[in-house]
Amino acid sequence: MVVVGGGAAGLSLTRRLAGANTVRAALVEPPPGPLRAPVRTWCFWEPDGGPWDAVLAARWDRLEVVGPDGRGRAAPAAPLVYKMLRSTDFEAHVRAGLGGRVAEVEAAVTGIEDGPDRAVVRAVDAAGAPVELAARWVFDSRPLPALPPARTTLLQHFRGWFVRTPDAAFDPDAAVLMDFRPPQPRNGTAFGYVLPLSERTALVEYTEFTREVLDDAGYDAALRDYTGRVLGLGPFEVTAVEQGAIPMTDGRFRTRAGRRVFRIGTAGGATRPSTGYTFSGVQRQAAAVAAALAAGRTPVPPVPHRRRHLLMDAVLLRALDTGRVDGAEFFARLFRRNALADVLRFLDGGSGFGRDLRMGATVPVAPMALTTAEYAGRLLTGR
Ligand SMILES: Cc1cc2nc3c(=O)[nH]c(=O)nc-3n(C[C@H](O)[C@H](O)[C@H](O)COP(=O)(O)OP(=O)(O)OC[C@H]3O[C@@H](n4cnc5c(N)ncnc54)[C@H](O)[C@@H]3O)c2cc1C
Repeated sequence: MVVVGGGAAGLSLTRRLAGANTVRAALVEPPPGPLRAPVRTWCFWEPDGGPWDAVLAARWDRLEVVGPDGRGRAAPAAPLVYKMLRSTDFEAHVRAGLGGRVAEVEAAVTGIEDGPDRAVVRAVDAAGAPVELAARWVFDSRPLPALPPARTTLLQHFRGWFVRTPDAAFDPDAAVLMDFRPPQPRNGTAFGYVLPLSERTALVEYTEFTREVLDDAGYDAALRDYTGRVLGLGPFEVTAVEQGAIPMTDGRFRTRAGRRVFRIGTAGGATRPSTGYTFSGVQRQAAAVAAALAAGRTPVPPVPHRRRHLLMDAVLLRALDTGRVDGAEFFARLFRRNALADVLRFLDGGSGFGRDLRMGATVPVAPMALTTAEYAGRLLTGR
């Protein structure tokens, strides 16, 4: 078995393969350079006592959502906890647990050749020497060269500052999950958030769900506005910067790339289209692959989201993109009118049909119904 890419998906799957003693596996990650994914933090929610609890950078039991009118709603997330993991800590933890059961190969993959019995992964190591690995199954987490065709594609794009203040300015027990006070784009939505790491340090981020990324000056201006005018934060120094763009699309991801080759992670549809959250989908996908292997089935990774959630997300993306729904008001109402843990479960795909329906009734119904009708019409006519 070969796992291509040692990011969230590759490492999560490799850890599971290493746990199944019978499997021989290799993990291929490029040498340091432009192909490597930059260091990042992953946030996700789950109950206490999860598999990564020992290496979390931070955890919050209380979360606040602030509406565009400045009205905040803070609530305990119980029984869930909002958790932050640094990619460097995650990688060190997973690699330390491999115990020599997985071959760690440092090489940039240049191609994967599918075959009836095996696939061959071709790569080049740091010295420029070719590397060839043949395997029964290959799981490829490299970013896709292009997104699948879609009716609507937005980006969740963001820049965050890790800030340090001279005096206490944050409550380390409570995080601001979404704050809709920044000026709103016409089509899409914008919000800030604050993840305190101590009384004097926090990750403060500015995010948009829109079609186009901003330039450097745009992100910095938005962050200056958010930290200054909105949060009223006094002096601070920026100790590190995090930036990214995550596709939010109703395009259909295919995880089967050949007889013996599969896609996992963002490339395998693990990103929840309406939120950009991916980490927990990646965990479900890795668990399903490991279970299929243990049962002797062909380990086709599932897209780790329910069909009805993907449909609901497609409607929301369309409603945001057309400007029919005010995104800030939509999310603020969703959090205001429902229990926090219920919304979090819904956003992670863990809610039942009845709960989904009840929650649907708490958001602006008319524009969503109109968009659903329009979307259904487009599905039927194949447009
Ligand atoms: C800055 C940032 C913050 C994010 N924060 C969150 C968050 O808080 N919560 C959340 O749920 N999601 C978050 N996401 C979304 C998502 O969880 C991450 O993008 C996640 O890293 C996706 O996992 P992945 O394994 O699919 O891709 P990656 O983690 O990007 O892994 C892809 C791997 O492929 C390797 N690779 C690339 N080219 C080659 C090659 N030629 N040969 C071999 N290997 C190659 C890369 O080195 C990398 O290790 C964030 C994304 C970004 C960009």
